[in-house]
Amino acid sequence: MKTILVVDDSPTIRKLLGYILKKKSYIIAEAEDGLDAMEKLGHVQVDLVIVDLNMPNMDGIEFVKNLRDNYYYMDTPVIMLTTTKDEKLKKDAFDAGVNMFLNKPVQPNFLLYKVESLLGEEEDHG
Ligand SMILES: [Mg+2]
Repeated sequence: MKTILVVDDSPTIRKLLGYILKKKSYIIAEAEDGLDAMEKLGHVQVDLVIVDLNMPNMDGIEFVKNLRDNYYYMDTPVIMLTTTKDEKLKKDAFDAGVNMFLNKPVQPNFLLYKVESLLGEEEDHG
């Protein structure tokens, strides 16, 4: 069973993503911003992260930079899910280490497909 950490400052989005992901029996952990997510990663082993960009305290890009500095999470798949279509921010997100950049709103089945493909790739690497 894989655990997915959902990081978003909107409780509605967290609830919606949790609802979608639970259809495939993923275990869901939630965090309300990057800082909260870093704290949670100290307690929970996470297989994939879905992170928002704009959040208080620590935004998505700062969070991903911190995540990539952590030995245990250097290779963990990260999907950034945001309303922004700013190409500069998208580039910054990839430079920080995200694996995939998707725009809200996302089709549930499309998201599940992307999650599965990223988790599958991870298994191939051992
Ligand atoms: Mg936000």
